[in-house]
Amino acid sequence: MDQATIQRIKTAIRDVPDFPKPGILFKDITPVLSDPTLFRAAVDLFAERHRQSGVQKVAAIDARGFFFASALCDRLGLGLIPVRKQGKLPYKTYELSYDLEYGSSTVAVHQDAFVPGERVVLVDDLLATGGTASAAARLIERAGGKVLEIDFLVELAFLKGRDKLKGYPIFAPVVF
Ligand code: AMP
Repeated sequence: MDQATIQRIKTAIRDVPDFPKPGILFKDITPVLSDPTLFRAAVDLFAERHRQSGVQKVAAIDARGFFFASALCDRLGLGLIPVRKQGKLPYKTYELSYDLEYGSSTVAVHQDAFVPGERVVLVDDLLATGGTASAAARLIERAGGKVLEIDFLVELAFLKGRDKLKGYPIFAPVVF
């Protein structure tokens, strides 16, 4: 993928100050979703990495990860596993709680989501502090999957989320 296309995606991402709470500068990826050329280019970024990577399943983080992961699955002919917030998945789940800046959150995955040893790429829209992706990756492993890589469209590098994801290869083409 050429740098000009990555730059076009970066330029389209909209800053929304004080959302969802005061002091947070929210990176809104919906202008990327609504532009067919940019949406396809974003999915291409992930697809290019995984045509030959040996990945067997795509896991995606609730909710914006679902957009990119489902298009990626369709592109590569792979199945999708949702990693959701607590209380959303209907069948038996494994759950993991993790700390947020204020309070905590819990992610869940279906117990039968993975064949033991299945190679998984985990997808989300944005890497901030890394807490969510770290919990999701550990949960996938608990359910028997092997996390090959964690892919984000966007990384907020100043939050040093990679430090929480040591041991996992990270791909994040758009960096702020
Ligand atoms: P974290 O666990 O801090 O890495 O947060 C990751 C999740 O929160 C991702 O699913 C992001 O979609 C969302 N998120 C956190 N901070 C931001 C931000 N500044 N702009 C947009 N999304 C964010």
